[in-house]
Amino acid sequence: MNEGAAKKEEKPRRFQAIRGTRDLLPPETALWNRVEQTAHEVFATFGFGEIRLPIFEPTDLFARAVGGDTDIVSKEMYTFADPAENYLEYIQRQLRELGHEGYSKFTNENPEKLRQEIHDRSEVMLVSLRPEATASVCRAYIEHGMQQLPQPVKLYYMGPMFRRERPQKGRYRQFYQIGAEVLGGSDAPAIDAEVIEMVMTFFDQLELQGVQLEINSIGDRNCRPKYVELLRAELLKVKDSLGPDSQRRIETNPLRVLDSKVKEEQAIIEKLPRIGDHLCKECAEHYAAVKRELDLRAVKYRENWRLVRGLDYYMRTTFEITAQGLGSQDAVCGGGRYDGLVELLGGPPTKGIGFAIGEDRLILSLQESGKAPVAQGRDVYIAWMGENARATAVRAARELRKAGFSVELPPVEQKFGKALGQADKLGAKYTLILGDNEVTSGEWTLKTLADGTQRKVSEQQLIAELKKM
Ligand code: ATP
Ligand code: MG
Repeated sequence: MNEGAAKKEEKPRRFQAIRGTRDLLPPETALWNRVEQTAHEVFATFGFGEIRLPIFEPTDLFARAVGGDTDIVSKEMYTFADPAENYLEYIQRQLRELGHEGYSKFTNENPEKLRQEIHDRSEVMLVSLRPEATASVCRAYIEHGMQQLPQPVKLYYMGPMFRRERPQKGRYRQFYQIGAEVLGGSDAPAIDAEVIEMVMTFFDQLELQGVQLEINSIGDRNCRPKYVELLRAELLKVKDSLGPDSQRRIETNPLRVLDSKVKEEQAIIEKLPRIGDHLCKECAEHYAAVKRELDLRAVKYRENWRLVRGLDYYMRTTFEITAQGLGSQDAVCGGGRYDGLVELLGGPPTKGIGFAIGEDRLILSLQESGKAPVAQGRDVYIAWMGENARATAVRAARELRKAGFSVELPPVEQKFGKALGQADKLGAKYTLILGDNEVTSGEWTLKTLADGTQRKVSEQQLIAELKKM
């Protein structure tokens, strides 16, 4: 082996973020903060309070709520066995049974055996990173007895979700959602409309471009099963002209065929029976009332009978919002009604409706349409020279920061030319020049970088001057 090859081998491994995950960096994070701040503000005006949820939950919770046959649960969740808690309990029990000698015997001599024994007793819990948050919100509603609170309970959340999907533009394995849920005793159509109005208000505030709202009703336990059977029967008649995905879905989830984007299937799907013609009386009335309530709020929508959602728990009102600049992953928000989900998780009879916004896509769309704020440079770069000026510079930085200005104070003395170059690179608006002259005379020099003009200001005037400019 020659020397070069040996050196190469010694090179430490360089790590990279796992496929489908990414770092969000400044200045982009400023946009994320603005989006989240706007959500806090807008949702508060609608009377929603923030809930912060665990990142992982028992796998069963998602299996039950989202549905075992869905893509999410069947293949996209990050699931692992978590014996930690029981492991400790087990050791403690062994300690009691065996006395102190037993402790070292168990933990030191044969940790593998211990692990195996715990596994055999199935004292392990399967947990999953959350692929969505509605299940957790319902779990929390039940766990904290929120049905005792004034109804409905209105909650919102934001944070990362995890799905093992094929990464592409607008689709990640760790992505971020901002969502809201209304839980309580009523399924009044005005609730559906107000939740939708809230998302639209939020998007409006952000000046999101090309926003399109589509709505549909997918019926309830009463009328949907009959429709699904009819759909399945019709799909079987045309099975041979469908692609493999749709063929499979005829059995597993015929509604999802309606969602197909395959070009050759479009003409066939257009001829299929439509759920709107098969809603029961209650569902049809509810849907009509939701539309009236949306009109009342001047919320513009388009009806799309093919809009179905990938999660099992939805019923009646479903909606999706798209925005521009996103290519084929253009849905920025999905939502709908899920009466019965709380009950399914062991809670009291409860109605529910909510939505989840894909924050990554929302940000992408804002960036594509130029609505993203440009990176903010520093307000003031302090170019100090000479040991005499150090204390003055530190004091100036403290006062300016207290007044809310963004200040860069170089940690070591720089030559004047280098300082100005740095100030320029950082996009500073002003350079405050503090040399021996300035410190002795008390008249500081403030340079405006845009036009190169300079002026003298006293320490007392500095902040007032900057605020005026
Ligand atoms: P899609 O059809 O795009 O896969 P979905 O129906 O799986 O979306 P929901 O589970 O309803 O989406 O989640 C709501 C929103 O979260 C979506 O409209 C989208 O904006 C966003 N979202 C879902 N999955 C991802 C992902 N893997 N990466 C980024 N955003 C996502
Ligand atoms: Mg999906």
